[in-house]
Amino acid sequence: MAGDPNEKTIFDKIVSGEMPSHKVYEDERVLAFKDVNPKAPTHILIIPKNKDGLSQLRLAQAPQHVELLGHLMCAIAKIAHEQNLGDYRIVINDGPGAGQSVYHLHAHLLAGRPLGWPPG
Ligand code: C5P
Repeated sequence: MAGDPNEKTIFDKIVSGEMPSHKVYEDERVLAFKDVNPKAPTHILIIPKNKDGLSQLRLAQAPQHVELLGHLMCAIAKIAHEQNLGDYRIVINDGPGAGQSVYHLHAHLLAGRPLGWPPG
């Protein structure tokens, strides 16, 4: 685990509007925006607006996290449908060894090219 799970990150600034983003979806609980360094023709990040201590997935151990993560996954399905993505992949990096660099829970939505398996 890296640092204080409630520490503010760049994604909090995106949620508050202090930092610009290319928003693609928003509802009362989640925000989705284009990744600034895309790894596929479509690369969208989906984040909880209020991370509620969820700097990373491994901390999802409270009942309210079940609801939040269910909501986040359903938002992803909605975005994929609205954007007509076809096949896609969801990635959540948890921890530095898995490539996590921003400690505000987020899912990567990748589409628009063949996605090899297993991932690197
Ligand atoms: O899983 P990981 O923590 O590495 O993902 C963070 C992602 O946030 C990166 O893909 C990076 O390109 C993206 N990012 C962004 N806008 C920022 C800072 C980071 O889209 N201002």
